[in-house]
Amino acid sequence: MTWTAAPTLHETDQAEYRADVGKVLSSFGKDAFARWEREGHTPREAPAALGAAGLFRRRWEDGAEGGLPLLVAMCQEICRVSGGLALAAMGHSEIFIGALRWLGETPSQLSLLESALDGRIIGCFGATEPHGGSNLRGVRTTAIAEGSGWRLKGTKRYISNVGRADYVLVLAKPEKPEHVSDLSLFLLPLDHPGVSIDGFFDTVGMQGCDVGQITFDVTLPYDALLGRPGIGLLYATHLLQFERLAICAQLTATADTALRLAVAYGRRRTVGDQRILDKQAIRHKLANCQAELWNLESRLSELVSVAQRNGKMPAHEISALKLAAGESTGRIIDTCMQIFGARGYSKNFPLERLWRDARLARLGGGTDEVLSDLIASGLDRHDPDADALIARLEALDAPRNSPQTHSSAASSNVRPVVA
Ligand SMILES: Cc1cc2nc3c(=O)[nH]c(=O)nc-3n(C[C@H](O)[C@H](O)[C@H](O)COP(=O)(O)OP(=O)(O)OC[C@H]3O[C@@H](n4cnc5c(N)ncnc54)[C@H](O)[C@@H]3O)c2cc1C
Repeated sequence: MTWTAAPTLHETDQAEYRADVGKVLSSFGKDAFARWEREGHTPREAPAALGAAGLFRRRWEDGAEGGLPLLVAMCQEICRVSGGLALAAMGHSEIFIGALRWLGETPSQLSLLESALDGRIIGCFGATEPHGGSNLRGVRTTAIAEGSGWRLKGTKRYISNVGRADYVLVLAKPEKPEHVSDLSLFLLPLDHPGVSIDGFFDTVGMQGCDVGQITFDVTLPYDALLGRPGIGLLYATHLLQFERLAICAQLTATADTALRLAVAYGRRRTVGDQRILDKQAIRHKLANCQAELWNLESRLSELVSVAQRNGKMPAHEISALKLAAGESTGRIIDTCMQIFGARGYSKNFPLERLWRDARLARLGGGTDEVLSDLIASGLDRHDPDADALIARLEALDAPRNSPQTHSSAASSNVRPVVA
């Protein structure tokens, strides 16, 4: 299906960039995306073509935060046609290029950055391991200083696009860490002797992008280490903010696609002599979806502006948006699928693919539970006004007819929480 995006919030400003992304996407041919899904891989040439067209370079031209509107535009355009390519391209751009651009110093790291920006080298990210991915402090892959370089040894699992990438950015710990967060980032070429791709996992969605496991025991040069040793977790946490924002952009575009299809179907499909779009039960469902989607789009736009203005990613707010967008988009697509009846469940229509693809957002880039915990950590703060008000109200909390209770006293003692 060729899908022309309707202008929404971010689209007017980045029309030219969106059109250029669209040109690269159309160059793959109309059957390509379905073929990639069947094959379980996005060919290396696809993210490479985005790079060759200068699209990664332009995204990064105005800096990490300055280029966020283009990141949003790129994610939205790509995932309208291929969730798999969006996943592969975002790992390459936001984690691999993001890390090299931020931390690259040596001539070989800077040269790798140039190649990555042009799509001559494609990168991916390996943090998760077979025993778990939520708690990165538990990473078991080791990096031991050996001679003038490093011996990197371990297994990384669920790496998106590892089957078609050239490099993987690996999170590893020293042999004897000083503390649990003592991790570092390493650049590992996937064709290096000692690296083996163990295989791939069959997943529910995003089937156009492989997700695999690698095992390695390799000796690398000293500048395989990216950034300073011991603060790799901090680096990874920062880079994940960009991936999370990219996921939010993909989710809004996926929800928008599903909603537009459902409305179009509702206009065509009649039951008796009435369009299903005229049934109140259907209209109201779609209206609720639109309301939810507009809220997500506004919040995404606002967070992009905040990050651009402050030159800093609002980490808690981005996590909160990803948490809300993951759940909300799932609901929206599910409703849209319902409106298609059996066709929504059939592979002849794209709703079932959108439904499957969107589910990953609640796991990848930080699970709902991990993000909830992060947001909750910001909630649990001393709030003198609210604490004082609760204390006063508790002191006055008695049944209405009690002789000690003076409702007028209660109200006169109450100060507004926000002055
Ligand atoms: C298609 C796909 C692509 C992926 N791509 C990549 C990639 O490119 N690179 C990469 O490194 N990883 C990737 N992942 C892995 C992904 O990041 C992890 O799946 C995710 O971090 C969760 O780790 P886990 O699967 O090991 O679950 P676990 O960590 O085992 O968690 C299991 C459950 O326990 C919950 N849980 C864990 N900790 C807590 C807590 N403290 N409080 C409450 N609940 C908790 C989790 O939320 C989850 O529900 C990918 C996964 C998939 C499915």
